[in-house]
Amino acid sequence: MKNMFDLLIKNGTVVDGTGKRRFVSDIGVKEGLIADIGSLKHRNAKRIIDVNGLIVSPGFIDCHTHSDLSVLHDPARLPKVSQGVTTEVVGNCGMSAAPINKKTLNLMKEYVKPVLGDYDSWSWNSVADYLKIVEKANPVVNVAALIGHGTIRTSVMGFENRPPTSVELNLMKELIREGMEAGAFGISTGLSYPPGTYASTDELVELSKVVVEYGGIYATHLRDQVDGLVDSVNEAITIAEQTNIPIIISHHKTVGKRNTGRVKETLSLLDNADERGYNTSSDTYPYTKGSTSLAAILPPWAVEGGFKKLFERLKKLEIREKIKRDFLTGLKGWENRSKALGWENIIISFVQSDKNFFLEKMSIQEASEELNKQPADFVMDILIEEEGNVGVIFNNSTETDLQMVMAHRKTMIGSDGLDVGDNPHPRLYGTFPKVLSKYVRETNLLTLEEAIHKMTGLTVTQFGIEEVGFIKKRYRADFTIFNLDNIKDEASFENSRELSKGIQYVIVGGEVVYENRKMTGIRNGKVLRRTDRLDNKNI
Ligand SMILES: [Zn+2]
Repeated sequence: MKNMFDLLIKNGTVVDGTGKRRFVSDIGVKEGLIADIGSLKHRNAKRIIDVNGLIVSPGFIDCHTHSDLSVLHDPARLPKVSQGVTTEVVGNCGMSAAPINKKTLNLMKEYVKPVLGDYDSWSWNSVADYLKIVEKANPVVNVAALIGHGTIRTSVMGFENRPPTSVELNLMKELIREGMEAGAFGISTGLSYPPGTYASTDELVELSKVVVEYGGIYATHLRDQVDGLVDSVNEAITIAEQTNIPIIISHHKTVGKRNTGRVKETLSLLDNADERGYNTSSDTYPYTKGSTSLAAILPPWAVEGGFKKLFERLKKLEIREKIKRDFLTGLKGWENRSKALGWENIIISFVQSDKNFFLEKMSIQEASEELNKQPADFVMDILIEEEGNVGVIFNNSTETDLQMVMAHRKTMIGSDGLDVGDNPHPRLYGTFPKVLSKYVRETNLLTLEEAIHKMTGLTVTQFGIEEVGFIKKRYRADFTIFNLDNIKDEASFENSRELSKGIQYVIVGGEVVYENRKMTGIRNGKVLRRTDRLDNKNI
């Protein structure tokens, strides 16, 4: 029948992603797109789902992921789909899987392993190649890519701690051009990690000028989220002022007790920049603990030239003594987490060898006492033994700061989930349901409409993503349908891979991909490219 929908969602309470009040409606889907919204009960459909009493939201967009390799080797995407995510933005924190250069590939592979995970066949070079390979892998979710500044810097100049020559700078610009033309949405930086930390503000300004020509954004893992938080946010604002690029502060937070409350200042700096006509925003995950690679706590000079050089250095007594001194006294411009947090607040989340498996879930303090070592020696020894492959969880922030960032009108939700090891941070599975259960239903920090906006419409607006993020006619038919009365994240630090409750259906491009806490096996994700503009299409 001509007027038949492929799918009819009846009686849903629709929260459309704009932040406007919910309304009860039916939604008709045809050829993967939203065909009609309104009273459609008389219409026929191949499949009808009655969702009376449930919330129908645009599919959630995880704007901060490290799933670059996971979308290839784990296209089912259970950690994300089970929490209602239908789009993942990959390539955050300066680390993207593309573009790569075969000469420096090994350097990069070992460096990104604790964050992006392990993967054998890096068979692409450019962002365009990578996106085609993602298409072939056919993940359940849509994928939108950022270009990692650390990745292009490694590709052009390895782990060199110096400014680029003008030839190198031009090569980096060329890689950004290629990536943007292939459909990337912007650039990300990881300025507390090598090699991002070796870059000056001027270098970032020069590169951002290219990104902005294509209408892309600048998402930044700040240079220093500890004592230099304010200066680091100011650095991002400077880049906005000099290039007009929209900036996104990644996992905006404070680290360490003595910095508690500082987000008040950084959020008002962003507001002030917005008032002056720049476009700023932040992303956040709903946990006061963070996670990353243990090597990230070392002073940047120690990692110059890559991991191999690091391990050689860590075997030399005088270098070990210097690292210990730096841990104690800090260095100008370096985010010294061990001092700000204390060794008791850095917990080992994974190691690669069976031999050291017993150390998982211990703090650095506990582990070093167990082995009768000084904490700094323990850190250096385990990095050598595990070839750098150690993940850690940090007790970073306070609930007050977290709530202040989350409640801000331009903060989006992004999991920052790392799918590495047996005990990943629970944000990998629980981020979106946790925001809805804890910050909407239990504490009323956000209205439902505000929370959904932060997970969908605000995100696509800030990133310049078209086609998804709103329940509007002709948008892709991506929906997350859930029960607000019982939605709950079940993933915890003890059981980090538990699936959330209350997510009833997840629909991607009009196909039900998750139903009653089970994947249906249908994979219908799409690679979203910056050039895929709705207004260019005659629909
Ligand atoms: Zn980050």
